[in-house]
Amino acid sequence: DHVANQIAAGEVVQRPASVVKELLENSIDAGASCIKLILKDAGKTLIQVIDDGKGMSVTDARLSFERHATSKIRAAEDLFQLHTKGFRGEALASIAAIAHVEMKTKQEDQELGTHLKIEGSKVTYQEMASTPTGTSISVKNLFYNIPARRNFLKSDTVETRHIIDEFQRISLAHPEITFSLHHNSNEVYRLSESNLRKRVVSIFGSKMNEKLVPIEEETEMISISGFVAKPEYAKKKRGEQFFFVNDRFVKSPYLHHAVVAAFDGLLEQGSHPSYFLYLKVPTKSIDINIHPTKTEVKFDDEKALYAILRATVKHSLGQYSI
Ligand code: ADP
Ligand code: MG
Repeated sequence: DHVANQIAAGEVVQRPASVVKELLENSIDAGASCIKLILKDAGKTLIQVIDDGKGMSVTDARLSFERHATSKIRAAEDLFQLHTKGFRGEALASIAAIAHVEMKTKQEDQELGTHLKIEGSKVTYQEMASTPTGTSISVKNLFYNIPARRNFLKSDTVETRHIIDEFQRISLAHPEITFSLHHNSNEVYRLSESNLRKRVVSIFGSKMNEKLVPIEEETEMISISGFVAKPEYAKKKRGEQFFFVNDRFVKSPYLHHAVVAAFDGLLEQGSHPSYFLYLKVPTKSIDINIHPTKTEVKFDDEKALYAILRATVKHSLGQYSI
């Protein structure tokens, strides 16, 4: 019901960036190869995500706004084998409780798609519509019915920063997908499908190109790939730090420390390394806290992992830098 949805919404949706994250992840789960994000006023007025994924049938489109209406978990044990980003079926229901939502969606084999509008968790409009295969979801006037939350939002600059953080994390996790980001009719990013190196360079600028040191390591417990930036890049600001574990962005102070330790003596006082590191581990050996707002991960054998990561980065820096 609407009240339960509003309560759940408080957990899932803290700010426009949380909506962006949920919508982008849904598009990826839907197999999209091209995803467009459109914002107005730092997402406070409009957040729209358009994808070319598999779309939804009429029934699924309506169902997608019901709580716990996930199509992604078939059995309880699926929880331990998560291959999709979403699984709880709470995001759209939560968003629909606190914003004006409009959806257009069509599956490939359908002639016409579905056009829905939802307000206060209720479908207020439903028609068949001509629309491309895939899904477009617009989220307007976030927190329109919770003034306290709306007033609590930070400046456009701050909210945009949060959105860009999410956008960067997700687009770095999926260089094989084309992404674009438009804000108040400016094109902020256009990232065509590519490899990781090109994705990093198109986000952080061509100066990054000659600074990237490739990292590759494969052991029984983990595979590590990606890049660290050479120490001289670290003179700049706070650096760019990205860990992905099994394609999910995670924050890990412990692993961060391992990378810093690998730079051992190469970094100037107060400077921070940049890295884009992709770890793949057996799902059984980790516990990702998939609470919607958390990005933490626990590894079975943290110490071994720390040692491998540090040795790998140190070795690569020794080979490539100077
Ligand atoms: P979850 O992702 O946890 O399953 P959501 O509330 O995010 O829950 O989405 C509910 C359901 O709506 C999804 O399981 C999926 O079936 C459908 N859905 C949402 N977004 C899309 C999309 N962009 N393309 C296709 N289906 C979608
Ligand atoms: Mg989802």
